[in-house]
Amino acid sequence: MIVLGVESSCDETGVGIVRWNADHTTTLLADEVASSVDEHARYGGVVPEVASRAHLEAIVPTMRRALTAADITVPDAIAVTIGPGLAGALLVGVAAAKAYAAAWDVPLYAVNHLGGHVAVDTLEHGPMPACVALLVSGGHTHLLHVTDLGAPIVELGTTVDDAAGEAFDKVARLLGLGFPGGPALDAAARLGDPNAIRFPRGMTGPRDARNDFSFSGLKTAVARHVEKCRRDGIEPPVADIAASFQEAVADVLTMKAVRACVDVGVDTLVLGGGATANSRIRSMAQERCAAAGITLRVPKPRLCTDNGVMIATLGAHVIAGGAQPSELTVATDPGLSVQVSSY
Ligand code: ATP
Ligand code: MG
Ligand code: FE
Repeated sequence: MIVLGVESSCDETGVGIVRWNADHTTTLLADEVASSVDEHARYGGVVPEVASRAHLEAIVPTMRRALTAADITVPDAIAVTIGPGLAGALLVGVAAAKAYAAAWDVPLYAVNHLGGHVAVDTLEHGPMPACVALLVSGGHTHLLHVTDLGAPIVELGTTVDDAAGEAFDKVARLLGLGFPGGPALDAAARLGDPNAIRFPRGMTGPRDARNDFSFSGLKTAVARHVEKCRRDGIEPPVADIAASFQEAVADVLTMKAVRACVDVGVDTLVLGGGATANSRIRSMAQERCAAAGITLRVPKPRLCTDNGVMIATLGAHVIAGGAQPSELTVATDPGLSVQVSSY
């Protein structure tokens, strides 16, 4: 069975194609992504209208490139991100997926973007045992309990304010590092001392929700530190601030993720989302999982950011799990809960 996935929830137009094999593994056949990230850079963040327009321009060429790369004319099924995401951006991918499904007369499966971030790991690492997944991106921070990719996912916790990637982007802007800030901050941090400044670890007090996160206090602490440096007439030490901030984020994320594995009783942790490209989040997760006897699974960075392959892979699992196809009238759901894997 060959499944084509369409992704347009944020600023990436993605079309991916995978083959579902008899042994329940998936093989990547095409992975085409057009990003409008450069068009948002001058605004310092994703502008929904700009993203929608860019999706409109990119969707058909991206679809054609994917079909050519996979060397197929028609897939057996189409999976599409129905939410969560930007309303106008989602509409473009869903409208396109419906049109192709109708024209090709193939079934359409509307799936959850967040489940896709978890499912994509199976491409490289094979079938997934029950696990805890930590999703960290520009729009999301979730700790999830996944028992079966075709079935509903249980949310253990989420952020009460900013997403982790959003915090990276905001702190990078504060430090004059540009947008998207995550990669620039990661690079700056390599030259700094992660222990130079002890920034707060949000939501780690005894009375705080065990699996929830908060990053806005950390962001404010960085802003205060920068202001204080300027007041004292010294240039803020950008590398040390970046490294210390990154250390605080990685510390909280990995501590809570490993603890959740122990709480839930699973021995596998899966990372997903664009911010897991972060070198310190990866290395600290590696260290702490090794110490706790937990197997860490992290997709390669290209598959951690938004793409169509993750949607195709989740679609393949949903179909294999026996789900019925969606109606062609299925609506987008910008606020879709992570607990719903497909419609
Ligand atoms: P969504 O939240 O819907 O998944 P998104 O476009 O915000 O969409 P991704 O494309 O998955 O998310 O990831 C982009 C985010 O990841 C940005 O916030 C970016 O700063 C962050 N990011 C990317 N690389 C790194 C890095 N090396 N370190 C920290 N953050 C990073
Ligand atoms: Mg993105
Ligand atoms: Fe995403």
